[in-house]
Amino acid sequence: MVFKMLQEFDLPARWTSLIQDYFSEAVHNLAQTWPDEQSLEVSYRIIEGFDTEFANDIVKNPDLHFHAVNQALRQFLIDAGGAAMYPFVRIIHLPSDQVRTVSQLRADDIGQMLALDSVVTKISGVRPRIYSAVFECVACQHSMVINQPNEQELIEPIECEQITGGCGRAKRLTRFVLNHKESILINSQFIELQELPEQMKGGIQPERIVCIGEHDLAGKLNPGDRVKANGVLFIRSQRKGGKDTPVFDIFLRIQSLERQNIPLEEISITQDEELEIKELARRPDIYKLFTNSIAPSIFGMDEIKGSLMLQLFGGVARLNEDGTRNRGDIHILLMGDPGVAKSQLLNYMSKLSPRGRFTSGQSASAAGLTAAAVQDPSADGRWTLEAGALVLADLGLAAIDEFDKMNEGDRSSMHEAMEQQRISISKAGINASLRTRCAILAAANPKKGKFEPVSEIPFTAQINLTPPLVSRFDVIWLLTDDADENKDAKIANHIIKNRLRGVSELLVNEGSASDPSKSSAELKISSDDTETLPRDLIRKYIAHAKRTVHPNLTTEARDLIVKFYIETRKKGGNSSDSVSITARSLEALARLAEASARIRLSQDATVEDAERAITLTSLWRYALMGENYDETSTYAGKKGSVRNKERAIRDIVSRLQNDGDGIANSLDVYNEAEKVGIDRNNAETIIEKLVLSGTLMRPSLVDGTLSIV
Ligand code: ADP
Ligand code: MG
Repeated sequence: MVFKMLQEFDLPARWTSLIQDYFSEAVHNLAQTWPDEQSLEVSYRIIEGFDTEFANDIVKNPDLHFHAVNQALRQFLIDAGGAAMYPFVRIIHLPSDQVRTVSQLRADDIGQMLALDSVVTKISGVRPRIYSAVFECVACQHSMVINQPNEQELIEPIECEQITGGCGRAKRLTRFVLNHKESILINSQFIELQELPEQMKGGIQPERIVCIGEHDLAGKLNPGDRVKANGVLFIRSQRKGGKDTPVFDIFLRIQSLERQNIPLEEISITQDEELEIKELARRPDIYKLFTNSIAPSIFGMDEIKGSLMLQLFGGVARLNEDGTRNRGDIHILLMGDPGVAKSQLLNYMSKLSPRGRFTSGQSASAAGLTAAAVQDPSADGRWTLEAGALVLADLGLAAIDEFDKMNEGDRSSMHEAMEQQRISISKAGINASLRTRCAILAAANPKKGKFEPVSEIPFTAQINLTPPLVSRFDVIWLLTDDADENKDAKIANHIIKNRLRGVSELLVNEGSASDPSKSSAELKISSDDTETLPRDLIRKYIAHAKRTVHPNLTTEARDLIVKFYIETRKKGGNSSDSVSITARSLEALARLAEASARIRLSQDATVEDAERAITLTSLWRYALMGENYDETSTYAGKKGSVRNKERAIRDIVSRLQNDGDGIANSLDVYNEAEKVGIDRNNAETIIEKLVLSGTLMRPSLVDGTLSIV
């Protein structure tokens, strides 16, 4: 293509006529809404229709055009009666050959206008910067205007300008004082963008780029937001030991932003694919098909996979009249012995789910799982707010391995992140509320390396997670690694068979074998004759269901869930402070039923869906606690009976203490304890625990007295 540079002096006139022809109404509106709106969005497609060559030139020489078009627009506004306005034209809808990912950026792209599909990972505070500086010459008081193109250095006059009426003295013969009042300040902000996980190839870390957002673009974005950022790439020399080096860092000066407005926009579904999905949804064995398609290389675990399938689809998030919100996402916790394929399952799910992310609780980044305010050298040392894994997985799934090893900061914000699905941060002048609307799939190992039977020690005492945190999971699976010859043989065969079917990674990388995970988009039949769905189709299916299906429980389904709730509560209701199920589980049941309906693409969650939710809930409860699953133990971290015994001992000490003079004799306590059925041994252990936890005190070790703290 022959490329002719447009004459620079032509530009304002060309832009003026373009605005006149296509945007006069928009300009009129802008004048009306000023200063709430300060910019005019112009679609590249319209410019292309106006003049292809002109449109081409914008992409190649954007800075000249921005200058010209902003001038032209300003003139329109002044003509419409506006005064000190500095409007900006924001060009959106760039052609697809200008779209890049961060890791694709190369030297040729510098100075061009590009579009980056990305997610915001960090924002700095918004600070004013001088856009147009007014300097006064100390010698003659003449003032002059110097435009300030960047935030790196303040550009001073070289001499007192004679053309505009100054004295002509050079810089070294006079001094120039900045007049803040007359200068024009604009807002500016550093924004870090990261390429999207689905754009990445292989397991490399996603790349990031520091951007500058100015004027009305500053303060618009939050970490976790998905945007198409259009802007101009520029470079700055890297500095070493106070000197510039010939290697440069690249930055993007953001010129306009386009936001996504349909959920999971990155997944596009053709009409044919939609038909295929609808066809699949009608199959009676669709649930089995999905369950089989989840981590086929992992043997067994059908119930667990069934719950993961529901998690992929999720329930419906609902807003209430009082402004509160009920989450729709289903959180699942896998607790289990080492080597039972927890990490493998998490890894698989993070790749299967749209917007899936895999992280470890011991995440290396400062932001951790939630978010953190950090001082950032790449943003000139400003305080920045960095998004963690949950924020980046917004609307998707966060798989968190080693959940029990997360840091203290994460632990404290995790409750809000899981239930309200947002994180509020207020630090170093940055206040933000970040959204974490993702399903959480977490894995945790027991403190002692292996789970003891839960009938002896409640599971909450065996993992390093607090009961309130555990109670936020809708489904909790306990996976123990018990030796069972029959099962072991089956798993062993399955694993070995899988190894044989796997293709050498080296050969795949060399190109002499094809990657099995990227093979045909057709339904696959695996070696043991089970049919599975290809990953790509599953993602499309999920995106389609999440976008279009928002099921409600039918009356019968609701009745069934309520009946199950009441009955389960009755069963565990024999002791006063022990209930077997709480209101929170009701919501979990509703979510599971809604997810089940979504899989069939049904707007009604029927009795069938409620039954699936109830069966699943009974299953995990049974696996976790046996017959008398006791939900208070999830909350209090202790089995009901143990708790009752502790309370009994405390009551005894308190009674004896009141009878005696402020202290209780331990022998009397043992005697009283025997009467309520706690033997000496048991009582000693409980007292020991209460003393350790600070509930009881031993005023004197010698005579064995006790008192309540
Ligand atoms: P965890 O995270 O629970 O400690 P991993 O996910 O690291 O365990 O799994 C350990 C290994 O055992 C993996 O290679 C996994 O494939 C294998 N494995 C364990 N259980 C199964 C199973 N049921 N089916 C297939 N592979 C299994
Ligand atoms: Mg593991």
